[in-house]
Amino acid sequence: MRAMVVRAPKELPRLEERRTPEPGPGEVRIKVRACGVCYSDHFVVDGLWPGLELPRVPGHEVVGTVDALGEGVSGFAVGDAVGVGWHGGHDGTCPACVRGRFVHCQTGAITGITRDGGYADYTIAPVTALARVPAGMDPVAAAPLLCAGVTTFNALRNADARPGDLVAVQGLGGLGHLGVQFAKAMGFHTVAISRGGDKADFARQLGAHDYIDSGDADVAQRLTDMGGARVILTTAPDAQAISSVVGGLGIDGTLLVVGAPFEPLQIGAVDLISRSAGVRGWSSGDGSDSSDALAFAHRAGVRSMNEVFALGDAGKAYERMVSGKARFRVVLDTEA
Ligand SMILES: [Zn+2]
Ligand SMILES: [Zn+2]
Repeated sequence: MRAMVVRAPKELPRLEERRTPEPGPGEVRIKVRACGVCYSDHFVVDGLWPGLELPRVPGHEVVGTVDALGEGVSGFAVGDAVGVGWHGGHDGTCPACVRGRFVHCQTGAITGITRDGGYADYTIAPVTALARVPAGMDPVAAAPLLCAGVTTFNALRNADARPGDLVAVQGLGGLGHLGVQFAKAMGFHTVAISRGGDKADFARQLGAHDYIDSGDADVAQRLTDMGGARVILTTAPDAQAISSVVGGLGIDGTLLVVGAPFEPLQIGAVDLISRSAGVRGWSSGDGSDSSDALAFAHRAGVRSMNEVFALGDAGKAYERMVSGKARFRVVLDTEA
């Protein structure tokens, strides 16, 4: 099979011929149709993940079909349309797992980081990490929902906001353009925040009811004038921009952080105290969360906007993704 492999830190993934892997007990082999290229793939390409072992096949936004079953696998059959995301398996016994919080498993695997991922014709995944892809869903379009999609969907559906509440989505990139669509489809008063007046029409096309140009307006003040946000979902990895919107939270509001800047956030204590507001992070979801995200997106018409590259062009695709210029996610198509 073809695999795009990172062999050394700071080297782009390169094409290798590899023996098609066999699934072990509890695992399935996925015939990969598409794999998204996520910013987190830089943990592999730049060699930054603690304990990273190279060579490694990156990719944690995998969509394809079950191709072979390992010993003891039930619930999935050859030919089923499936996906696997960042969550690449859990032990089922650690304190996080016994509480059902598989994403936070102490020995959990991460697809494309601690085990080989989806930049390949085939990949192996534990059956407990699989998501179901709805019939009729375009696999190439769907791939980013396995990370960017489930992250924004799952953060919002677990947030303390009800239909009609004001939910602001900061950033209109790969995560944000999905966050706005999910927020609208969940019935929130959806406000998009980005820089530049030219993005207002696009934000409304995505379903935003209102748009705030952060280059032109005091975002916190504008949100306060609208009654204050129940939730501000921050998707852009910009610590200063995130910190600047906290004053726009309403009573009991939550700053819901999914974009990860390197710098620490600077948040005024009084901004939190005066509103009983809080700050919360959120990390993607497990296979069942991804199944829910895919089904919800398919029904509600939430679509990732993607630039598609052939599998063999994974290096180019990665460079396009890190340039920050892609509109909005980058996807590898094994049949392109
Ligand atoms: Zn990701
Ligand atoms: Zn565990």
